[in-house]
Amino acid sequence: MGLFDKIREVTRKVSEVEYNIYHEKRDYLEIYERNLELEREIAERTEELNDANKRMFTLQHIWEMMNSSTPLENVLEAIVNSTQGELGYMHCAIIRKCKDEEGDYMHVVAQSHDNLIERLNDIIGGAGIQTRRLNYSEESVFADTMKRRTIVQTKSIDLSLSAVLPDLSPEVVEKVVSNQPVKSVIVVPLTAQEKEFGWFCVFSAREELAGAEMDFLALFAKQIEMAITIADLFQVVRNQAVTDALTGLYNRRYFEEALEKEVQRAKRQKQPFSVIGIDLDYLKKINDTYGHNFGDLAIKTIADVLKSNARSVDVPARIGGEEFNVLLPGIASDGAMIAAERIRKSIESVEIDTIGHITGSLGVATYFEHSENIEELMELTDQAMYTSKREGRNRVTLAQPVSETYWQEIAVNTFIDILSKNKIPKVKHLSKELCKKLKNSNNEITKESLYSVADMLTKLYNPMHTQGTIKNKVIMAVNLAKRFDLPKEDIDNLRIAVLLYDIGNLMLPSNLLQKASPLTDKEREEIKHHPVIAAREILQPISYIQDVLPIIEHHHENWDGSGYPNKISKEEIPLTSQIILIVDQYFALIEHRPYRSKMSSRDAIEIIKADAGKKWNENLVSEFISLIEHDIV
Ligand code: GH3
Ligand code: MG
Repeated sequence: MGLFDKIREVTRKVSEVEYNIYHEKRDYLEIYERNLELEREIAERTEELNDANKRMFTLQHIWEMMNSSTPLENVLEAIVNSTQGELGYMHCAIIRKCKDEEGDYMHVVAQSHDNLIERLNDIIGGAGIQTRRLNYSEESVFADTMKRRTIVQTKSIDLSLSAVLPDLSPEVVEKVVSNQPVKSVIVVPLTAQEKEFGWFCVFSAREELAGAEMDFLALFAKQIEMAITIADLFQVVRNQAVTDALTGLYNRRYFEEALEKEVQRAKRQKQPFSVIGIDLDYLKKINDTYGHNFGDLAIKTIADVLKSNARSVDVPARIGGEEFNVLLPGIASDGAMIAAERIRKSIESVEIDTIGHITGSLGVATYFEHSENIEELMELTDQAMYTSKREGRNRVTLAQPVSETYWQEIAVNTFIDILSKNKIPKVKHLSKELCKKLKNSNNEITKESLYSVADMLTKLYNPMHTQGTIKNKVIMAVNLAKRFDLPKEDIDNLRIAVLLYDIGNLMLPSNLLQKASPLTDKEREEIKHHPVIAAREILQPISYIQDVLPIIEHHHENWDGSGYPNKISKEEIPLTSQIILIVDQYFALIEHRPYRSKMSSRDAIEIIKADAGKKWNENLVSEFISLIEHDIV
């Protein structure tokens, strides 16, 4: 090969290498660019996955809760909080569609706790939107979504707000919507077991609703619907249960059914039966000293004693927290006293880990012997048990029927006195009818007729008053008084006072109490002072209720001396008057009023708590709350 050839050969090889290098470089570039693209894609997918993950977690969280027997409100509360927090909405709420005698309305059952809702509640004032009766209108976005069963997004926040709270002024609405980040509200209809339940609402900072978000919210709504259905089913199962979960004893419902049957049997066979009431002594102390678990252990110990002492036909039951009853078919009082004493001894003899020995106070009452009215029989059992408490605990007391009805006689005579002498012009036309109701054909006095007459009189000045409330007030006041170990005479006077304390309202002009617009100072003074003065005037001439008068006279005095009419304070106020004040306030809060909607029990408790040390004694408030919570459970 000549030199020329060699040079050509080398040049060819060089260009071949060059060519290869060039192409490899291009490949590299391609690979590099492809990598970049892939990375971008991975980042996007990761973000989507993260979002999906968050949603999955939220759903999983809901699912876990649904598998337990958590009450529905708690599940819904957790749902709204997790949607708001984890999914980045400004606010979330679940609203329920409700119905009462006034028609359809809406009520917030769960809402996320965030700045947005705090701000709204601050602006609209009162106890917050969750306590309000929200207006349901056929023209609203809520009715629209429900009718079409579809998700609707609205940007007209002001219109939606005025639709649910029509009494808000345009200025307040403007204040709510201005300067805040919410741009749209997405409303998702909820149905459970083919019934309209309400709506799931999310407040978003975006005006647009992406397709994927819409799909997700629909999926989410399905989960909420499932939670509601499961909670309903749990409720049904719970209602069917006959035993108490902690102790395995029969529950209250079963006991009451057994009692009904036993009354029928007793009447048919003319055979008595007895009831033993048992209350664990000083449980609060056990809870406070050793903790709730040991309190539960003490309760279980009593349950075990009752089980091992019961004959097969007896019905031992846990009625409430630490209260037990045993129904003894066919047993008269002497036998029941022996059985009760055996139970008392067995309780006392058990040695419990850490706590040592516990005791119980017992009461016994017998059908036929003490009463033929089942409610009265249960009350006599309770009173006997209560006597055991007052006389030192760890003992058994037999019911004493005779004097128990004395307060009823006094109350009936008082009403008849007032009515027959026409002391209240407004009830003149009803006097005859009411007197007849008070003393039935057998001249028998019953508590039911007393309560019913008091309810009817109350309804005359308060149309929102519901039948049955007076009875509930008496029961609550008496239970509260018992927590303070008040003597029986005080408690009987308290019962009469609860029936009569507001009777002076019947002397007020009717338009005044029902006025929805703000009262003038003069009107407010009249509403405040007049009824107490009137009650005194009406009742003063009745000689046998002189001990009841001071209770009524002072039932508007506040603990800090800021009440009326005498501005007395602290221990100067009879405890029974304070009890009426707190019970009266509670029932007023959970009832509708022309100027506000009714509140839930929990919200009413919050309001009462806020006045501890001011309106009422702190100790009274804490006993009151513990009583109500006992009832709620
Ligand atoms: P007394 O001797 O007067 O009956 O005093 P007491 O402390 O037992 O009674 P009180 O009625 O003042 O308080 C009852 C307490 O029992 C209040 C409540 O917290 C507690 N309690 C109610 N139910 C339960 C329960 O299921 N478990 C536990 N550990 N405590 C309960
Ligand atoms: Mg107790």
